[in-house]
This record gives sequence, structure tokens and C-alpha cells, in this order.
Amino acid sequence: MPSTLSTILDELRATGAKLVAVSKTHPPEELMPLYLEGQRDFGENRIQEMATKRELMPKDIRWHAIGHLQTNKVKFIAPFVHLIHSVDSLKLLQEIDRQAEKAGRVIPCLLQMHIAREETKFGLNREELFSLLRAPEFEDMKHVEIRGLMGMATLTEDRELIRSEFRMLRLLLEELQSGFFSGKESFCELSMGMSSDYKIALEEGSTLVRIGSLLFGPRQN
Ligand SMILES: *Cc1c(COP(=O)(O)O)cnc(C)c1O
Repeated sequence: MPSTLSTILDELRATGAKLVAVSKTHPPEELMPLYLEGQRDFGENRIQEMATKRELMPKDIRWHAIGHLQTNKVKFIAPFVHLIHSVDSLKLLQEIDRQAEKAGRVIPCLLQMHIAREETKFGLNREELFSLLRAPEFEDMKHVEIRGLMGMATLTEDRELIRSEFRMLRLLLEELQSGFFSGKESFCELSMGMSSDYKIALEEGSTLVRIGSLLFGPRQN
């Protein structure tokens, strides 16, 4: 029987999207079978947990920070993090820039947009996005590179609502590609889709799906 991983990878192949295996709460021994099958991109939402796993696991793993990130935690992942999906303020971006400079690198980032109906989900609205992009401080940052957008759809059975939220995010990406980021080929990533809604996200143009429970089973805490 093919593994869940290979089934998902088959589905992704047709679209060119990449898989971030969301391994939060699961210990390294549960990540290793996926690593041995060739998976290299893993996503974590807790900084301490990511730093610990990075110590314990093979060094060619690409670690993605996907959850809400506190400014004072950035320094712990700046030397190695592959992509930060969850930038939702200018202040956070400035701290990432500072820590990236200290680490002697440029850190790729996505701007997290609030696309869901729920109040609780983090992310920028349109107005906040444009005020961030137009801030004089934004231009001065040389150690972050904005690669695209991330968003989480409403947790609902309503597939059409989910689809409309993902579509809105894709249209925003396209708007920025031909506007603010025009000529910047590296601004192209759309991080959207989780276990319950990644198929819709793929249909709406996702380039990075973040899948946890489908690969690892229910979370352990
Ligand atoms: C936990 C989490 C995921 C994965 O969720 P699943 O439903 O387990 O696939 C994706 N993105 C973010 C930001 C998460 O926190």
C-alpha cells in the first residue's frame, strides 16, 4: 500500500505545489520515516520545539515557521529557518531583518493575510498589508525577502466559502505581482491549504500546502 506521504505527493505533482509536513507536537522518531521517504520540508509553530528538533535531526531538513511568531523568539531560529510563513506586522519583520543581519543571511518570508471569518486567526487585512508595504522602514530592510502570501481559511464545512477565501488570496497575490512586486520573480509563493482543505487550495493555485494531521495522525497535545 502506498504511504500517505506518497499519495499526497502524487496529488501535488500535477500542480507543482510543494508539501510542508507540519510536524508540531510529534517527536523526531515520528518525523524520521517521512525523512527517509525523501521529505525535507517540515513545519513547526513553536520556536523552542523547532530549535530542539533541528538539533536532533538531519541537517538538510528545511524548517518552516508556520505559526504566530513572537518578536522575542526570532533570534532562536534566525540562523537556520528556511521560510517564515507567518509575518503579520512591520515590527516582526523588522526584528527578522535585524536577526537575519546578525546571522549574516537573508531570511525568506511570507506575509500572512487574514482571510477567514473567524476573529481569532492572525494575519493582516488589506489595509494593514499596504501600510506595511508602503512604510519607509520596509524599503530599508535588506535581510528579508518577501516571497509571497500565506492564509488560513475558515474552519467550516462550507467548501464554497473556503474556496472563495483561497481565491481572494490568490487574486491578491496576482495583484501584487503585477503591482507592488512587479519584476520580482521571487514573489510567487502562495502558502494555503491544510489537511482538511488542501485539495481546494490546490485548485485555487496554492504553491505550498501545510499538512499535519493527515500525515502524522491527531496532535499529541
Ligand atoms: C497546525 C497547522 C497546520 C496543519 O494543520 P492540519 O489540519 O493538522 O493539517 C497548517 N498550518 C498552520 C499554520 C498550523 O498551525
